[in-house]
Amino acid sequence: MRFTRLRLNGFKSFVDPTDLIITDGLTGVVGPNGCGKSNLLEALRWVMGENRPTAMRGGGMEDVIFAGAASRPARNFAEVTLALDNADRTAPAAFNDSDGLDVVRRITRDAGSAYRLNGKEVRARDVQMLFADASTGAHSPALVRQGQISELINAKPQNRRRILEEAAGISGLYQRRHEAELK
Ligand code: ATP
Ligand code: MG
Repeated sequence: MRFTRLRLNGFKSFVDPTDLIITDGLTGVVGPNGCGKSNLLEALRWVMGENRPTAMRGGGMEDVIFAGAASRPARNFAEVTLALDNADRTAPAAFNDSDGLDVVRRITRDAGSAYRLNGKEVRARDVQMLFADASTGAHSPALVRQGQISELINAKPQNRRRILEEAAGISGLYQRRHEAELK
């Protein structure tokens, strides 16, 4: 699986629908301070199931919705779509019946978040599992925040082990075992 496009609509400073095309190789985002670079990365985490408002630099999850500007009223919802190329058919079995996957997360004021996968409503859990099995996701070690390297160096051994397990791609198995044990 490979990310191909990130679409933001009403997410933070991206009030008008905006597409970020993600091609093969390295994607760099450059621009002046405050132009929305970090917001882009946050949108990527958010659509993959991030549920901690602090990770979005907000007090509550609704803070990701465009809050208005001098010339624009606030919006009532925010939506992020992540398009995935699945031509190599490496998606987990439950989602592996097409060459492309569209993951959509939408938050509406006072109504919380909803997720869709190729148009079908799914649970947050399903989206988190999809990315956990693909060794990516909101907590992926591939997304390196500012200050995260020093956190890794100073982490307790147990926490450092969790980060390494995630990088090794086995955290999905742990989550499944945990779910099975709860049943
Ligand atoms: P830097 O180079 O300083 O790291 P950046 O390019 O990463 O900057 P961001 O932090 O992504 O910039 O964007 C900050 C901008 O997003 C600010 O102008 C802020 O007002 C705006 N912003 C954040 N949340 C919202 C929101 N809910 N509604 C409208 N604008 C928002
Ligand atoms: Mg930034």
